[in-house]
Amino acid sequence: MSSKHALITGVTGQDGAYLARFLLGRGYSVHGVIARRGTDTLWRLRELSVLDDIEIIDADLIDLSSLIRALERTKAEEIYNLAAQSFVATSWDQPLLTAEVTAVGALRLLEAMRIVNPKARFYQASTSEMFGKIQQPVQDERTPFYPRSPYAVSKLFAHWSTVNYRESFNLHASSGILFNHESPLRGIEFVTRKVTDAVARINCGLQKELRLGNVDAQRDWGFAGDYVEAMWAMLQQPEPDNYVVATGKTTSVREMCRIAFAHVGLKSEDYVVVDPRYHRPAEVDVLIGNAAKAKERLGWSPKTPLETLIHMMVDADIERVRRSLRA
Ligand code: NDP
Ligand code: GDP
Repeated sequence: MSSKHALITGVTGQDGAYLARFLLGRGYSVHGVIARRGTDTLWRLRELSVLDDIEIIDADLIDLSSLIRALERTKAEEIYNLAAQSFVATSWDQPLLTAEVTAVGALRLLEAMRIVNPKARFYQASTSEMFGKIQQPVQDERTPFYPRSPYAVSKLFAHWSTVNYRESFNLHASSGILFNHESPLRGIEFVTRKVTDAVARINCGLQKELRLGNVDAQRDWGFAGDYVEAMWAMLQQPEPDNYVVATGKTTSVREMCRIAFAHVGLKSEDYVVVDPRYHRPAEVDVLIGNAAKAKERLGWSPKTPLETLIHMMVDADIERVRRSLRA
């Protein structure tokens, strides 16, 4: 068992919680960066029962000095940059905040690492959204990028900053280009969780319909618990690199709804209402990834089929709704 120190920004997010649990299971000391904003953001860490095992560090991707102090204090050998303004739709309403956190924030953390511990290993949470208006039917590490939102543009800056710091300063900095990944801990604003929460509430008689935007959009959806293992595997490689992490299968929002409603014996077409309010200024129509490099070099492949994932999410949301009704 290892006794390494890992620092995770975005530890209160979906991936941060799963990664923290995974690293604790491997014997790491886990330091989680929390940007305090007064609301309870610790629920995911409580749900996975890891809150008491993590050392909480107050820092913010907007504040370079706080990142420098975090790295000095923790002496982390592995740095996982998962923090971001991560919701595509919000990035049109708050483009400058998105750029400050998601783009320049990653550069600040790279700078902090360069100053404090250039021998550490760095993971950047890049995204399939960078492929945007896809230039190849199936996307891999060599596919040209075409971002379609302030979020994706910001992530592209962070991705190239990671590559540039690797090449300029010889940092062990890797970029994981992860396709959409979901779980019962997914934020409720993302479509899969919005759907599974609605299925649970409709099933319990608390909601009558589900209003969605572009139900023809297609995504390559995997399970977050599987994907954090690929992040860790990237930092164990002798050389830093870029890796696509995906399932290789794509599914429409419409079909995802069908699977979720069918799990409780309902038909999605009886409840889903298309509402133009949820349409985006520019859409990413379809994404499908080729993770052959991750399989070959990291020995990583996805374990959880989409149906299993959606069922897991619906079951967790039904349990939450029932718990709230009992309270
Ligand atoms: P979440 O939105 O669940 O988590 C984002 C995290 O970033 C939260 O912990 C949030 O803190 C934190 N954060 C936001 N702003 C700041 C800031 N200024 N300083 C420090 N922390 C901040 O994202 P996911 O867990 O789903 O995703 C993890 C990363 O992977 C993100 O960077 C995301 O963009 C990227 N990604 C995600 C994919 C997915 O499908 N999930 C696909 C590809 C990439 P708080 O809780 O306080 O808001
Ligand atoms: P994204 O791929 O990071 O944007 O993840 P989301 O889960 O937010 O969106 C996935 C796809 O679902 C996008 O193409 C959205 O336009 C589409 N979609 C359709 N209706 C909705 C909705 O009501 N909410 C969200 N979040 N997405 C929706």
